[in-house]
Amino acid sequence: MDTRTLVIASGNPGKVKEFEGLLRDLPLKVQAQPEGLEVEETGSTFSANARIKAIAVAAETGEWALADDSGLSVDALDGAPGVHSARYAPSDPERIARLLRALAVEDNRSARFCAALCVATADGTVLLEVEGHCKGRITRSPRGHQGFGYDPIFEVNGTEKTFAEMSLLEKKAHGHRGRAFTMLEPQLRQLLSQR
Ligand code: IMP
Repeated sequence: MDTRTLVIASGNPGKVKEFEGLLRDLPLKVQAQPEGLEVEETGSTFSANARIKAIAVAAETGEWALADDSGLSVDALDGAPGVHSARYAPSDPERIARLLRALAVEDNRSARFCAALCVATADGTVLLEVEGHCKGRITRSPRGHQGFGYDPIFEVNGTEKTFAEMSLLEKKAHGHRGRAFTMLEPQLRQLLSQR
């Protein structure tokens, strides 16, 4: 039987690398999406955006595609920045500064990260969809130097640590993406054994 190819629906080399590592033990050939392919994220939920990206890249390449979409939703801001997390400001420090300003006089600091994953086939069939979450609170000021994005201001419930104060392994265990992948992996393995 031929080894199935799975295209990672992302133009971000860091993300492709992260997925290559996560998918290492599966009988798959993992590929990056074709250069220059841009898919507009027009959905209003993380799942909708993951689905849009997976279907577009699978159709374009003729292979199965895996897409993810993630972000941070803050309760006191009615779920913002949500699906706009990457576009909330031009850089990570500016995104953090804007969020801390928006919550300056707010006592309700609760928030959650979400990661949606979707696997689709070239004919537009959605094979798998999962969502992983991580609950926490927005700190008053940044702490820690690991990770990226909003990591320094997101303290994970029950740990007293921000994502930026965690090792990669700790973040994988507690984090939204790690949890989503833990759900996806056995289902993907089963699908691969059937087809
Ligand atoms: P996308 O999933 O590539 O569209 O990016 C979502 C955005 O959400 C990122 O640019 C970050 O700003 C934020 N984000 C998603 N996951 C994380 C995380 O694990 N830590 C910090 N920020 C994150």
